[in-house]
Amino acid sequence: MSEETQRWEIGSARVTSVVEAQTDGIPPAFFFPEADEALVLRHPWLAPHFADDQGRLGLRVQAFVIEAGGRTVVVDPCVGNGRDRSLPFWHQQDWPFMERFRGAGFDPEDVALVVHTHLHLDHVGWDTHRDDGRWVPTFTRARHLYVGTEVEAQAADTNADASAIRGDSIEPIFAAGLAETIDADSDLGGGLRLASTAGHTPGHASLWLDGGGERLALITGDILHHPIQCSELELNFVSDADGLAARATRRRVLAEAAEAGALVFGTHFPTRPAGTLAAGDDGWRFVPMAPR
Ligand SMILES: [Zn+2]
Ligand SMILES: [Zn+2]
Repeated sequence: MSEETQRWEIGSARVTSVVEAQTDGIPPAFFFPEADEALVLRHPWLAPHFADDQGRLGLRVQAFVIEAGGRTVVVDPCVGNGRDRSLPFWHQQDWPFMERFRGAGFDPEDVALVVHTHLHLDHVGWDTHRDDGRWVPTFTRARHLYVGTEVEAQAADTNADASAIRGDSIEPIFAAGLAETIDADSDLGGGLRLASTAGHTPGHASLWLDGGGERLALITGDILHHPIQCSELELNFVSDADGLAARATRRRVLAEAAEAGALVFGTHFPTRPAGTLAAGDDGWRFVPMAPR
């Protein structure tokens, strides 16, 4: 295991982070319009894993791979390679993501389920790859789950990136008969439960995992993007579709996770993406757990 593939155990289940890319030294206002370096420095617990001593942030794009109940489940498979995207740091990339995925002991053919917390471009990319000029499924035997309200909202999104991912990442899965549309609140079996967490997008859902031990795990998706939002609960991300709902959801779900003593996996958290919540002044501090 390396920094690009980190692993944690929850009861008899395992969760592995497979990293596509991590960026450090990001000015906070780039992603959080209401934040600045001084706000970050008010939370010294963020250093060194989540922010530097200048108050600049790290962010990651990573997929979590769950092994539970005899199944391999991929959650939110990143941006992908060779895509036409509006943001230069996601445009026409060539990351060794699948090499890391295989290096962590996974075979795309063995993936039973792909879960999408929502349908932004950094959560669906590796569902497909280019083969002989066509976009084809990567996880060829997996059921790919989509929340119905999220599919409808995505289909109505006229943004250039949204239409691009329909063509290269979503429609090929439906065309191959590998897609299944579900409710945001759905029991997925094997200790996995999807729960509605709308706000960042209309059909956003987060994933709870009961690995049969004493501890639950929660994969957040984009209800929060950085550990600072565990303390600064009002701080919205630049692309939160419904700011009020995003705040309410963040407060509710973090309270549920703290109450349950859950191991929280932050989908965009850098360096140490898994941790527990400790009570702070208003919200919580994110206490990272070292990978195994
Ligand atoms: Zn998102
Ligand atoms: Zn995202």
